[in-house]
Amino acid sequence: MKTEKNTIQGIYHYCDRWCERCSFTSRCANFSFSEEHFSTPEERDINNEKFWQKLHEVFQLTMEMVIKESAKHGIDINDLDLEDAEESEKKKREEVNATDCVQAAKKYSETAGDWLTSNNNLFEQKQEHLLLQVRLELPNNTPEEEASDIIDAVEVIQWYQFQIYVKLARAVGSKTEEDQEKPDDYPKDSDGSAKVVLVALDRSIASWATIRNHFSEQEDCILDVLINLSRLRTSVEETFPDARSFIRPGLDNSA
Ligand code: SF4
Repeated sequence: MKTEKNTIQGIYHYCDRWCERCSFTSRCANFSFSEEHFSTPEERDINNEKFWQKLHEVFQLTMEMVIKESAKHGIDINDLDLEDAEESEKKKREEVNATDCVQAAKKYSETAGDWLTSNNNLFEQKQEHLLLQVRLELPNNTPEEEASDIIDAVEVIQWYQFQIYVKLARAVGSKTEEDQEKPDDYPKDSDGSAKVVLVALDRSIASWATIRNHFSEQEDCILDVLINLSRLRTSVEETFPDARSFIRPGLDNSA
């Protein structure tokens, strides 16, 4: 990836990939790469063949890079026992997925999805109610603000809905590997990934609280979601006690 003078090295390793809302796009090599390689609307449309052609090119480029870098270290990847590696990766994934916190994160992604889908009518009713308020121009009412609050909360919940599970699985997997290595003082990938999870959990909890304020009829159900998310957050903090203090390049410090 091309890097410019003001690029923040590795900022994309521990960000939430929400580029539309990121204030570091001009300093992120990953963003520049995406802009360069997926520059047209067709190339960004997952349902368009051009997207898949581009992705294929990116994989090819990556593979060439891996082969070249491996050769520098005297490794011929054709000599590697990939079947064995695949089997061991599969076993590792199963172990990671079986841990309580990863299971809880997976369950949350399903619960959040179910709630949003089954309460679609509530959002429609709310929309009608807010539009009526706009038309009536009642004093002391701020329907636009309320609508914007709800839209933002739903977008946040949806953005992190699966990311919490995926990133937590990565954090747990990295921790398993790190526990088998000789200890050192370097920042750990597990803590960085867990930090992304904690930020996502903080924002999701705040957003569910917003939704709860606007949909009092769903209070009990949303309270359950909030309790489960808070428990998950405590569990992540206990499993990764150094995650909160992990400094994500650019995002937690002024680079
Ligand atoms: S750092 Fe910002 S611009 Fe770069 S990948 Fe992450 S969210 Fe996108």
